[in-house]
Amino acid sequence: MKNITDKLSRPIKDLRISVMDTCNYRCPYCMPADKFDDDYQFLKKEQRLGFSEIEKVVKVFAGFGVNKIRLTGGEPLLRRDLDRLIKFLKRIDGINDIALTTNGQLLQRQLPKLIEAGLDRINISLDTIDEDLYYKMSGKRGKLSVVLDAIDAASESSLKSVKLNCVVQKGVNDDQIIPLLERYQDTNVVVRFIEFMDVGTKNGWTKEEVIDFNDIVQIIENKWKISPVEPNYIGEVASRYKYDNHQGEIGFITSISKPFCRTCSRARLSADGKLYTCLFAHQEHDLMPLIRNNKDEELAQIIASIWQNRDDRYSEIRNQSKDNKERIEMYMIGG
Ligand code: SAM
Ligand code: SF4
Ligand code: SF4
Repeated sequence: MKNITDKLSRPIKDLRISVMDTCNYRCPYCMPADKFDDDYQFLKKEQRLGFSEIEKVVKVFAGFGVNKIRLTGGEPLLRRDLDRLIKFLKRIDGINDIALTTNGQLLQRQLPKLIEAGLDRINISLDTIDEDLYYKMSGKRGKLSVVLDAIDAASESSLKSVKLNCVVQKGVNDDQIIPLLERYQDTNVVVRFIEFMDVGTKNGWTKEEVIDFNDIVQIIENKWKISPVEPNYIGEVASRYKYDNHQGEIGFITSISKPFCRTCSRARLSADGKLYTCLFAHQEHDLMPLIRNNKDEELAQIIASIWQNRDDRYSEIRNQSKDNKERIEMYMIGG
């Protein structure tokens, strides 16, 4: 194995693969329904990487030090036989952790197969436990009770971790912080609050809608005392907190108020084989021609050179940045 680092001395450890660009939801902060309507052109099947092609790319990344894979989307559970892909990836030397991020609507039935195939961890998105608000926040497509049942099933399963992702927006779901925590306090399910991010250019993001880490902590501390916990490893995305008088853990993903670019070791691959070195990238690196034409050696060289030339730190320089270039949308590369 040849470990590589980027221009800011960051190794590559984590590859996030979007296996599907389409989604069964239309969350307004990600795929607003008016912009992603029935006429929207998503990828055709033949434009998406096949499982053996994904396996080929992951082998190359594993050779450079990647040990964690996250499958995401769009909605990854719309991809048929995802368990087969997990089985393939699990066999690759060096890959010791496979995680999935899903909205959970299609999870419960697939969960046993995914776990049997080798899934280690799961993140399920849950922005509210209010049924009507859930329906609204899913773009009128999701049913809350189905997702809550899937979370319970995941929590009782052998998965190593079950985390919930809650994107908090001021005036939309900030009143859900306490109910969410109350529901999962004293369980093994970690609730993580994510600051609303300016990913892509289609979600109409404004700073005014962001409720930041300090505000969220304040809301929680009005009810319970919480204290920070040491990160599990360098580069962990979420800041971890525990309750002083309850079991359970709370996480915060603070891309806006406390950027974590300095330890960012994540690369992202879209469903059509494009590599992105930052969630806010406006430049893509199309690996598909090399993958499809079996140019394995060139593929490895290109991936190494892309990473070694990486200097992304968008969140750290967000406020200085004056460029209005189109940025990749979240649904193309997952979270
Ligand atoms: N469809 C799956 C899901 O929702 O879990 C996986 C893909 S989704 C793009 C991955 C994560 O990105 C979700 O947890 C979602 O809440 C989060 N996300 C999407 N848009 C966001 C935004 N503008 N700011 C912060 N998080 C966002
Ligand atoms: Fe779909 Fe996930 Fe985006 Fe919601 S956040 S629209 S579920 S991809
Ligand atoms: Fe990594 Fe880019 Fe996010 Fe910074 S802004 S943490 S470099 S993905």
